[in-house]
Amino acid sequence: MDGILFDYGGTLDSDGVAWIDRFFRITQNLGMGFPRPRFARAFYDSDDNLPTRFALKGLSLEKTLTLQVNGVLQALAPERAAETHHVVDRFLAESRAAFQRNRPVLERLAARYRLGLVSNFYGNLESVLASEGLRGLFSTVVDSGVIGVTKPEPAIFQKALTDMGITAEDAVMVGDSVPRDMRGAESLGMRHILVGNLSQPACCPKALKVASVANLESVLPAPLRAGIIAAGDGSRLKSSHPGTIKPLVPIHGRPLCHWIVSSLCEAGVQDFTILLNSRGRRAQENLLAAFPRLRWTFLSRDTASSWESFRLVARSLAEMDGDCLISTVDALVPPTEARRFANAARRAGTPAALALTSFIDDENPLWADFGPDGLVTALGPDARTRQHATCGLYYLTAAVARAMPPAQAHCKLREYLQSLVAQSAVSGIVLDKTLDVDRPEDIRQAEDFVAAFPCGIGSSSGTVRTKFPADCRS
Ligand SMILES: [Mg+2]
Repeated sequence: MDGILFDYGGTLDSDGVAWIDRFFRITQNLGMGFPRPRFARAFYDSDDNLPTRFALKGLSLEKTLTLQVNGVLQALAPERAAETHHVVDRFLAESRAAFQRNRPVLERLAARYRLGLVSNFYGNLESVLASEGLRGLFSTVVDSGVIGVTKPEPAIFQKALTDMGITAEDAVMVGDSVPRDMRGAESLGMRHILVGNLSQPACCPKALKVASVANLESVLPAPLRAGIIAAGDGSRLKSSHPGTIKPLVPIHGRPLCHWIVSSLCEAGVQDFTILLNSRGRRAQENLLAAFPRLRWTFLSRDTASSWESFRLVARSLAEMDGDCLISTVDALVPPTEARRFANAARRAGTPAALALTSFIDDENPLWADFGPDGLVTALGPDARTRQHATCGLYYLTAAVARAMPPAQAHCKLREYLQSLVAQSAVSGIVLDKTLDVDRPEDIRQAEDFVAAFPCGIGSSSGTVRTKFPADCRS
């Protein structure tokens, strides 16, 4: 999954209660006693005509609410219009309490996904969000009052997806309205989560329900974690980079290890376990300084084989819940491809997945065959087609990570992978070009390759995903 679209009213500012219901309750509590049908007529008249009666551009939430409520009171009881601010104050206080509850969840989600807002609003949602300090959480805000298309029309959702650079298949819509939010998402084949009273009927069997945005993480996939194997000796690079350990060999102005960390961030990873050898302390210091907002577990061991390294990293990751990605430190995988691999692996639903490439520049590739269902059918010498080989990026469910055989079971990582393919369903996911950096002659090609990766500077708050996320600073 790449992104989450949110509705605004009733979703972010309350736990599934629509504006009209909240305003009606507040006026009743203030002793205004309007009959509901009259109130509803006045509310919708004020609501529908707000953008034509007033210049709303740039207005805050408070000022927007003041105009809306004043319109209702002027229509129903002009003698009480002076009490507008009482209604607004209560509505604002409730909304701000909801923002406060939801903010930590939104910040955590913004570090894993692109977030967008899709709302039937007055055309000034940008300034409303900015006035409440919420604008920075969302990479796009699509306001029906600006684009002239309302939910549930597919075009308004599609506009947000296009802005975010993601597909409906890899997004989920979160909202409190079945006809507008749920049906709209459904028409694009987008998953959807209904916010509000859990006893209300869902729109379809696939829809999930939560009582509040604050509970959203309970129905989303657990965060992916990642392991990086950087314990190798890097002996072939010693001639070109004497005195520099392999993870710190510079590639296009950044240490080698930064490239895979950044690509795995793009796949939504915030928790990293990295295995370094006993000379790896400088890499540890470098990573902590370069990526201070990520959560790091450092393992230090001089291992005898790639299998021993892989097993150590997998077992460390298995101590926590959730699925994981494991990569070698020298695998250069474009960020978008790392993200695609993670999504495809999770969607495949198999216990493990191997990233495969047809771009092979290795003396001893681990060839892989796969069937029309995407399952790997043969690995290594048994593979016949010799079209695809593994490229150093793997996906494991927690169950597979926990069930690692003892160290003496294998001598090489490829033996373990072959036994895994023989015993369980393993998906093969073909990536566009990836590169390994093993030899001095690989470096020139690697520099040209990574130069084409999208890269911006990570946000200073660390909570907003940019095109190239979290602490990408060189
Ligand atoms: Mg709503």
